[in-house]
Amino acid sequence: MRLILLGPPGAGKGTQCKRIIEKYQAAHLSSGDILRAERAAGSELGQKAQSYMDSGGLVPDDLIIDMMIKAVKQAPSGYVLDGFPRTVPQAEGLDQALNRAGEKIDAIVELQVPDSAILSRMTGRRSCPKCGQVYHVENLKPKVEGQCDNSCGPLVQRKDDTPDVVEHRLKTYHEQTAAVVGYYKDKYPILTINADQPIDAVTADVFAGLESLAR
Ligand code: ADP
Ligand code: AMP
Repeated sequence: MRLILLGPPGAGKGTQCKRIIEKYQAAHLSSGDILRAERAAGSELGQKAQSYMDSGGLVPDDLIIDMMIKAVKQAPSGYVLDGFPRTVPQAEGLDQALNRAGEKIDAIVELQVPDSAILSRMTGRRSCPKCGQVYHVENLKPKVEGQCDNSCGPLVQRKDDTPDVVEHRLKTYHEQTAAVVGYYKDKYPILTINADQPIDAVTADVFAGLESLAR
């Protein structure tokens, strides 16, 4: 299974990805998680990405395309892409790599959420820096406040989940990323999901959509 999850920051891509990969045994390839790991390791890529990530802008396409093509090649039995592609040139770069490998994407899952729902999701988000599990202070609480359920230790609040950076990320999404859905329109099946519902209801719709595509 090869899927691409699209949607604004805070739409629930990471949350739904975790559930999809569990059910379909695929790799979760989150460009944001990979960049954060590069930053934590102090790599050259991580250092180059830092200022873009802190401000809520996009890391340059050439860096991201190389990074994600490498990740895709390391997941031969399937993956769910989360946060990539975020621009039309990134989508084109991915298509070129897929063509070279004789592969294709099975479906695009687009999570639709109004901007008005995003701020509280992102400012309430808490993440595990070790396993990447995502929680929310109200919508998806960990069993013990502030601690990852997978015994990894304390949860953190992302530096880019502050109101002003969230506002910039939403603007970036509308200006540069929303067009990616149009790019895929006649290329792959697109599942459009109402993600402005409770998390389990979104998962149920995603699973039902994927099953109907497989029939
Ligand atoms: P993305 O990966 O698209 O940026 P996340 O999956 O990290 O989004 O979700 C952002 C925050 O919103 C998290 O704190 C998550 O727990 C919460 N969340 C995700 N989906 C929903 C939903 N359907 N309703 C309410 N909160 C949600
Ligand atoms: P995310 O974890 O998906 O919210 O991404 C966090 C930040 O990483 C974004 O605000 C960008 O600065 C950067 N980033 C992640 N994915 C991409 C991408 N595909 N293209 C450019 N920048 C990205």
